[in-house]
Amino acid sequence: MHIRPPFSALAGLGLAASALSVVAASTTTARPAPTRAEWREVFSPDGTIQRVHLNREVRSSLAPRSQVAAAEVIPIEVNGPSESRIDLVFVGDGYTAAQMSSFSGHVQSKFQEVMAKEPFRSHRKQFNVWQVNVVSQQSGVDNDPSNGINRNTALDMGFWCAGIERLLCVNEAKAQQYASAARDVDQVVALGNTTKYGGAGGAVATASGGNAQAGEIAVHEMGHSIGGLADEYSYGKGDRYQGPEPAESNVSTYTSAAMRQNKAKWARWLGQATPDGGVIDTYEGAFYHQRGIYRPSQDSIMRTLGREFNLPGREAMIAAFYRETRLIDASASAAHVTARTRLWVHPLKATASVHTIWRVDGHQVGHGDDIDLKEFRLSNGTHTVTATVTDTTPWVRSSTLRRSALTDTRTWSVAG
Ligand SMILES: [Zn+2]
Repeated sequence: MHIRPPFSALAGLGLAASALSVVAASTTTARPAPTRAEWREVFSPDGTIQRVHLNREVRSSLAPRSQVAAAEVIPIEVNGPSESRIDLVFVGDGYTAAQMSSFSGHVQSKFQEVMAKEPFRSHRKQFNVWQVNVVSQQSGVDNDPSNGINRNTALDMGFWCAGIERLLCVNEAKAQQYASAARDVDQVVALGNTTKYGGAGGAVATASGGNAQAGEIAVHEMGHSIGGLADEYSYGKGDRYQGPEPAESNVSTYTSAAMRQNKAKWARWLGQATPDGGVIDTYEGAFYHQRGIYRPSQDSIMRTLGREFNLPGREAMIAAFYRETRLIDASASAAHVTARTRLWVHPLKATASVHTIWRVDGHQVGHGDDIDLKEFRLSNGTHTVTATVTDTTPWVRSSTLRRSALTDTRTWSVAG
């Protein structure tokens, strides 16, 4: 499934774009508002995150398009058809032909790191994972271990991007070209052959393949690219957010009292114990500002790597997973259904909380994956049979989200 990224396609998305341009307007004057494509996130070993603006020269150095070599694609985990799965594609840089088994090991460990984190852990079956064996002439990445070291590699990865040691940049155009060899691409993760901690957030997430914590970067980045979540960190200057209520579900200008009153944003989670610690409330400081804007919890992964998603973040991620994957993978044909037909659905059993309810003419008649219509002795005339598959997970509280994203229905017309 192709995810429509909430940020990277800013031009087509008025809400996100206007929210961001207002943020930019409070920190810059007269210049055009920067878009997300001009920013990269820098991740420190202690988990703190910052955003840096890349100037035009640095950006253009990251995007030259050139013909890339053919590369072997290895399925790491295939759980279903790509039209109804989120396809995660790993590409590598600085791995020579002789080091492909090392690359495989790094992909496995990063993938396991992502899938160890909720809600990925419980929703693993909604993902396909691919490894593209990108072969480099030389081993390692640029400016590793120190600035000034250059290596001839397939994706031009290197530390000290834009003068920042731990900012590990990649030629994004080449990374995406290689990734497109996979059956489908929803998120590209580029691993560099290094043990030095580093990475970057952007259209292509990058991480050190040989560093044990770098998979967290991919998790945080999917918070943006899949969940549409905002960053919950702020900068040190103490400035006040002046913009309108942001479109993102995990940041708000409302205090808890106003949020409750307006039934806005994470009102339904207020006071609940959250997996990242403490209770859900409105904590001041988020979305790159220290004042005038709130986050749902003290310290989630959208603020600091190594943490869990908070309850509103987890809910948004699950809803997004289901927007990209249908709950019914296959079902009985709608043609020639008679009163003696056995009808069936194959639900995507992502979690144990996925249930199927069968109805005949609106009346509930059963549950499970199939029903035999002859048991119901249908009267003459036309009847409507429906199968409704719903994930009843308590991690989603919004009935609107459950109806729109966590429910899938099939309908058959039966000649009785
Ligand atoms: Zn971020």
